[in-house]
Amino acid sequence: MYIVPEKAIADLVTREASFDAVEKVFAAMAAGDAYNFPVVREAIGHEDALYGFKGGFDCAGLTLGLKAGGYWPNNLEKRGLINHQSTVFLFDPDTGKVKAMVGGNLLTALRTAAASSVSIKHLARQDAKVIGMIGAGHQATFQLRAALEQRSFEKVIGWNLHPEMLPNLQEVADEAGVPFEAVELDGMREADVIISITSSFDAILKAGQVSPGAHIACMGTDTKGKQEVDPQLLVKADVFTDEVAQSVSIGEAQHAVAQGLIEESDVAQIGAVINGNNPGRTSDDQITLFDGTGVGLQDLAVAASVVEVAVEKGIAIEVDF
Ligand code: NAD
Repeated sequence: MYIVPEKAIADLVTREASFDAVEKVFAAMAAGDAYNFPVVREAIGHEDALYGFKGGFDCAGLTLGLKAGGYWPNNLEKRGLINHQSTVFLFDPDTGKVKAMVGGNLLTALRTAAASSVSIKHLARQDAKVIGMIGAGHQATFQLRAALEQRSFEKVIGWNLHPEMLPNLQEVADEAGVPFEAVELDGMREADVIISITSSFDAILKAGQVSPGAHIACMGTDTKGKQEVDPQLLVKADVFTDEVAQSVSIGEAQHAVAQGLIEESDVAQIGAVINGNNPGRTSDDQITLFDGTGVGLQDLAVAASVVEVAVEKGIAIEVDF
């Protein structure tokens, strides 16, 4: 088997490669060529951690495996480590033998940012100029950096429960040469694209704080009980997701569905838009919402491409296992 340690990943993967891998795997899922296994995600009762497994099989790409890991909210403050910790394991679908173990931390951030970027590419208005960020933690910086490549954005606005973290967004905006402004939530009405990526368990963004024509990518809600937006927003919007089963159970749509405001059948796969089987955005005043729950196949896709490059470059550690 091959081992690709976390510290080697940054030199082996690009935002473009992550975007391509994620866009392809979303398309394969909608075509029925790839499927995710049910997610296991548990509050383990230690360090407030959420730990679990996300796995799947891509029959077309012959990628089988899982990502094990989760979210340790005290890591940064207590230990100087990032709060997300994960590792990807790939298996040979012909034999079941383990093929690779790959550091999953940077890959998680890149594949999650790629997912919202794919949604912006396919669902946001072409003339989108203002991007709004809700959340300013570790993932938010990756989200913003990737999103800024999707449209000719002229301004970044940001809100965070903990305003002292907003300079994280300012830094990414500065890097891209785009002005940044901290706003109240009402200020999000100015945004053509909004990304939410927080650890919230309550609705932050109200339906009335989103303007017609906006595209929203809700990326933080990946567990039962978590929530970032008003369920009424899902009534107003056309709702898309990576995986419908996850969207209605652990994603942002879980609340609107549980309250009987929308049906599971109101949630469409983004892969169908990519494949041309769903028109996606059809008007300039339509609100589109992408419920990015995070699927195991995203992790496997980016990890498989990293292993390929690591083997080519002679960086992968080979272990007789
Ligand atoms: P982080 O700890 O670095 O940042 C957390 C962010 O959430 C900060 O902006 C913080 O101010 C905000 N926050 C914390 N508690 C809040 C609350 N009660 N209400 C509102 N905001 C609150 O975490 P991160 O690594 O940036 O991850 C953010 C979230 O993204 C996590 O909840 C994580 O589970 C989720 N996530 C989702 C996916 C996916 O594929 N959908 C992938 C990775 C991470």
